[in-house]
Amino acid sequence: MSYPIYNCFHPILRKKAIEIDSFGGALSTFASEMLETMRSADGLGLAANQVGDRRSLVIVDEFAGGNSSKSSPIFLINPKITAFSETKQEYQEGCLSVPKFYQYINRPSDIDLEYQDLDGNLHKISAGNLLARIIQHEVDHLSGILFFDHLTSLKRVLSKSKLRRIEAGETDAHYNMINPDGTDNIVTDQ
Ligand code: ZN
Repeated sequence: MSYPIYNCFHPILRKKAIEIDSFGGALSTFASEMLETMRSADGLGLAANQVGDRRSLVIVDEFAGGNSSKSSPIFLINPKITAFSETKQEYQEGCLSVPKFYQYINRPSDIDLEYQDLDGNLHKISAGNLLARIIQHEVDHLSGILFFDHLTSLKRVLSKSKLRRIEAGETDAHYNMINPDGTDNIVTDQ
């Protein structure tokens, strides 16, 4: 089953996530439904608040889309970035909560990360390039931060009309969405 995705202007996208301390079947079921949602919307990452759930859980998959046989989703529970490289990189980002809006964002190119898996085991990893990019974008969601918050003020001004249309629910997404006011925007004609 797949969930509708919340529009970036819905208040839940600005809430801080709640730490997960209970692992097991129900969490795994939710995680697999999130994965299905991410795949059917063609995303490379998804945070739980994007499907209306405030728990601290994201999925990242740098190989999603295109060649799906390489797909290797990682479920990150209670993720924390513990170090950022000084070297930064510009890369074009998009977000399933901000349909059809793409912007170059400058971020550290490498990170160290701690997270728990679906069984609660702690992992420490280093990531670079696209994976580091996706993780930073998704972990931002857990702090209520959206990728366009990182834009320069000039770029924000230039993006205003496009973001206003998204705020008005004119998203033209190919997947189901929840509008900023909580009404849905269910796609019937796929
Ligand atoms: Zn996003």
